[in-house]
Amino acid sequence: MLKVFKFGGASVKDAQAVKNVGKVIQLYDEPLVVVISAMGKTTNALEELVNAYYFKKNDVNVLLEKVKQFHVGIMNGLFENKNHQIFTDIHNTFVEIEWEIEEEPQRTYDYVYDQIVSVGELLSTKIVSAYLNEININNHWIDARALIQTDNTYRKANIDWKLTTELVQSSIPKVITTGNKYVITQGFIGASSENFTTTLGREGSDFSAAILAHCLGAESVTIWKDVPGMLNADPKWFDDTQQLEHISYHEAVELAYYGATVIHPKTIKPLQNKKIPLYVKSFLEPALKGTLIDEYTEGDKLIPSFIFKMDQVLISISAKDYSFIVEDNLSQIFSQLSAHNITVNLMQNAAISFSICIDFSPFTTMKFIEELQQDYHVLYNKSLELVTVRHYDEATIKRVIANKNILVEQKSRNTARFVMK
Ligand code: ASP
Ligand code: MG
Repeated sequence: MLKVFKFGGASVKDAQAVKNVGKVIQLYDEPLVVVISAMGKTTNALEELVNAYYFKKNDVNVLLEKVKQFHVGIMNGLFENKNHQIFTDIHNTFVEIEWEIEEEPQRTYDYVYDQIVSVGELLSTKIVSAYLNEININNHWIDARALIQTDNTYRKANIDWKLTTELVQSSIPKVITTGNKYVITQGFIGASSENFTTTLGREGSDFSAAILAHCLGAESVTIWKDVPGMLNADPKWFDDTQQLEHISYHEAVELAYYGATVIHPKTIKPLQNKKIPLYVKSFLEPALKGTLIDEYTEGDKLIPSFIFKMDQVLISISAKDYSFIVEDNLSQIFSQLSAHNITVNLMQNAAISFSICIDFSPFTTMKFIEELQQDYHVLYNKSLELVTVRHYDEATIKRVIANKNILVEQKSRNTARFVMK
C-alpha cells in the first residue's frame, strides 16, 4: 500500500518552504507518491508570459527573466554547491520556453498556454527532487506526462483512464524499493496521444493526486496546505471560522460545487469510486489531525458552511414580445453560455424571465450580454455577492444577510443561497 501526497504552490514558495516539505516527507517512513505544484505564484506569472507572447502586450523576455530569477533564488537557498547539476537542468528546462517564444505563435492560444505554463510544474519538481536527493531523502523524479494520458482539449484536458491506469500501474510500483521509496511527480500536467503537453485546469494538482491514487488503489491521499484543514468558510470573508473535522465525499463535492476553493472539484470522484480517504492537513503543523473526507456522513450537518462568491453578475433574460421563455430559448441561451465558456453559478426561472448568476469577466461578460440583447430583453446587475450556506439555520442566515439587499433567494433542505448587494 502506498500513500499519495500533494503539495501546492504555497508549500514550495521559497527555499524555507521546500526544506519544510522534506521534513514532512521524512515523518513518513513508507512508500509515498508526492505530487507537487508550481512554486508560489509561478503559474500566474507564466500565464502573464503567455499573454505577453501571444497578444504582444508586454515584453516577454522581461517576464521570463523574472520567473528565472525566482527559481534561481530558491535554488541558491537550497544548494550550497553552485556547480550542482540542478542549475544546468533548470537552465535547460527554461530553454523549452525560449524555443516556444522564439517564433510567432502558430497554433491556438490554449495549445501554447499548455506548452508554456506546464513548465512551472517541471521546474518545481526538478528542484524539490534534487534537493531531497541532496539531503539523502532518496526519490525518483517521474515525468507526469509519461503517466497521465489525456485527449487534446488544451487547458482542460480529459483523462484517458484506461491508458493512464496501465501506465501508472506498470511504472510506479516497480521503482519503489526499500532504499528509495518516494516518487516525485508533477500535478496539473499530462500528455495527449500526439505527445503534446496538456493541463487539467487551474488548481488541477489535487485532481492529479486523486488520479494517481485511483490508478494505484492507494491507501489515502493527503493534501498539504497552509491551513489546518478544511474550514467552514474562507477566512478572507469570515472572522470566526471553524474546522470541519470529518465530512463525507458527498459533502465535499457539494462544497466544491458551490465554490469552496480548498480542493479542486474533480478531486473527489476518483477517490470516492475506490473509497480512498482524503486528508487535508497543515504542512506547518503536520501533527494536527486536519480534515478527513470519506464515506462517513454523520459529521456533515454539525457545522454550517459558508461559501462566498464575489464579483457576481445577475442577468435576467426575457422575450422582447413578452412571451414565455420556453425550452427553445433556454437551449439557445445555454449554447451561447457554453460558446463563451461561462459557468452558471445559480439560475432561476419565472413566467417570462430567466435569470442566471455568473462570475464577472472583463473579457466575456459584456460580449455575452450584447449577444443576448440581439434576441432578448436583458437586465443585469454587477458587483453582487453570491452566498451559499450549507446546513443553515435561521441564526446563521440572519448573520449573513444582515444589512444586505437580497436580489435572489433559494432554499432547499440543506442549502440556502442568496444573491445580494
Ligand atoms: N500550478 C497550477 C495552478 O496554480 C496547478 C495547481 O497548483 O494545482 O493552477
Ligand atoms: Mg494550488
